[in-house]
Amino acid sequence: MATTDYLTGLANRRHFLGRVTEELARLKRDGGQQAVVMLLDLDYFKTVNDTYGHSAGDAVIRRFAQLMRDCLRKMDVPGRVGGEEFSVLLPDTDIDAALHLAQRLRTIVAEAPVQFNHQQIPVTVSIGLTLLTRTDASPDAALHRADLALYRAKDGGRNRVEVLSAGV
Ligand code: GH3
Ligand code: MG
Ligand code: MG
Repeated sequence: MATTDYLTGLANRRHFLGRVTEELARLKRDGGQQAVVMLLDLDYFKTVNDTYGHSAGDAVIRRFAQLMRDCLRKMDVPGRVGGEEFSVLLPDTDIDAALHLAQRLRTIVAEAPVQFNHQQIPVTVSIGLTLLTRTDASPDAALHRADLALYRAKDGGRNRVEVLSAGV
């Protein structure tokens, strides 16, 4: 399907960006609640592939997608925007609620190694998030902030959540 990522069943990059574009247009038109954009990247994933093999890496990606889905509401939009890079659009959500969700997912992932071929594969994820607001000129503006926040989470040692506020 043109909207779905084959490995995980999540929204693909193009579909995810389309949903963020719609949400931003809605915020500009109707006002209303702000939304949160989250970017997630699995830590040291090259090492996972190198140590356990590419199929194991694929299993980790699938498992992570499932854990992510399990943490979300029906209205949220999870996507796979790169190899081991994921995203979530959280409509009608403030930063506190999104932070809480991100920390919960981060903890669940860190505490549950992926079982593959009788092996236990430890996995952690770094997460960056930011508000999508009607002052954003484009979806890219918000995604860029989320990316900067994600970079901070990586730089700060990984297995972390970082927030970058709007207007940065
Ligand atoms: P970091 O903590 O900085 O994110 O380190 P990293 O090793 O995760 O860094 P990087 O993003 O450079 O590496 C991602 C790796 O993910 C490289 C690529 O081989 C692997 N990868 C990308 N897509 C897939 C996939 O669909 N399946 C598998 N098994 N591996 C993938
Ligand atoms: Mg990575
Ligand atoms: Mg990456």
